[in-house]
Amino acid sequence: MSKKAEEPAKETPKEAPKEAKEEKVEKTAKPEKKKKKEKGVFTLYQIENDKIIRLRPTCERCGPGYFMADQGDRYTCGHCGFTRYKPAEK
Ligand SMILES: [Zn+2]
Repeated sequence: MSKKAEEPAKETPKEAPKEAKEEKVEKTAKPEKKKKKEKGVFTLYQIENDKIIRLRPTCERCGPGYFMADQGDRYTCGHCGFTRYKPAEK
């Protein structure tokens, strides 16, 4: 069933009420996008005296190669979900 109703004259009587809307979009100077800390494997390593220092522990479940994310007081593995609390440091 197609709509074959009498179509009203094609008029779009959209009477938009003229509202004195103050469209003041506060245009504060947009701060330039903060440079996000670059992420990459290179952030996980530090080279010192020709030696590689791993800045993150690796997951003991997944084995070396799976770094754990630093969550402040603990590390978590994004691969298996393993969580390991940081040893209390003093
Ligand atoms: Zn894991």
